[in-house]
Amino acid sequence: SYRIIDGKAIAQQVRDELKDEVARLKKQGIVPGLTVILVGNHPASESYVRGKMRASEEVGIRSDLIRMNEDISPQELLAEVRKLNDDPSVHGILVQLPLPRHIDANQVIATISPEKDVDGFTPVNVGNLVIGQDAFYPCTPYGIMELLKRIGISVEGKHAVVIGRSNIVGKPMSILLQRANATVTMCHSRTIDLPSYTKQADILIAAVGRAELITSEYVKPGAVVIDVGINRREDGKLVGDVLFAEVAPHCSAITPVPGGVGPMTIAMLLKNTVKSAKMHHRSASSNG
Ligand code: NAD
Repeated sequence: SYRIIDGKAIAQQVRDELKDEVARLKKQGIVPGLTVILVGNHPASESYVRGKMRASEEVGIRSDLIRMNEDISPQELLAEVRKLNDDPSVHGILVQLPLPRHIDANQVIATISPEKDVDGFTPVNVGNLVIGQDAFYPCTPYGIMELLKRIGISVEGKHAVVIGRSNIVGKPMSILLQRANATVTMCHSRTIDLPSYTKQADILIAAVGRAELITSEYVKPGAVVIDVGINRREDGKLVGDVLFAEVAPHCSAITPVPGGVGPMTIAMLLKNTVKSAKMHHRSASSNG
């Protein structure tokens, strides 16, 4: 028998803990604040932003949304980011991706103060992640590590195979797994004979963005399967990168889509924002 990992329930647990922590901070006069910048009105982005803001408010984090037109100049966006860098009531700055083509997302990300980079995308935070220092970790891989920890799955010494090498999921996932002493194999779009690698995985992480690519031939019996993908199938149904009904019976544990990794991603964004508020408060008090 296999376990369906209830990401929704575990994320709720994380949010409940954060709610208590935010209440304690408020007694010290600290109100964690998250500001989201949304450029344009991409429907998926609108829905992600709504979810993040609703979850923030639920735990007591003040959340603000700055909407900017699709045709804004890069300079205007950078100026907005710098303003937020300088605003002491803002602890987390999140620029919702993707940005319009005429704006260089890397430049925008690099402008966010690393101390407020609750997505963990700035070069400073990525560098600290890689060299094993404390950092803001990207929310999706961080959420996956938290999920594994909370259900008692240790990755130490095990073979983890990550499919996908994006900066927001696959790449940081591989680093966090290595830091937790897993042996890590990275696969991607140019990998020759993908199943030959994935079949060796004790822990298989699929972050591809291809609906139901991973069938049971890709999975070793008893593996733990983490499905990051969020894909719209042709019939309109929301599915992961894993063909759930076929793969699940072969696993020891598997995340569903929806209700697996997605809720954890948002919970870790809140966790990073609260962490930032505490750090800013500490450094403000130590500066007199
Ligand atoms: P991306 O498009 O940036 O990266 C996809 C990666 O998959 C690439 O590195 C590519 O090399 C690899 N790939 C593509 N086709 C492949 C194939 N046939 N075989 C092997 N590898 C292949 O995507 P991303 O931003 O990393 O997101 C991946 C998926 O995860 C998407 O469905 C996205 O919607 C979802 N996602 C979910 C969450 C969440 O919170 N659950 C967060 C971020 C992304």
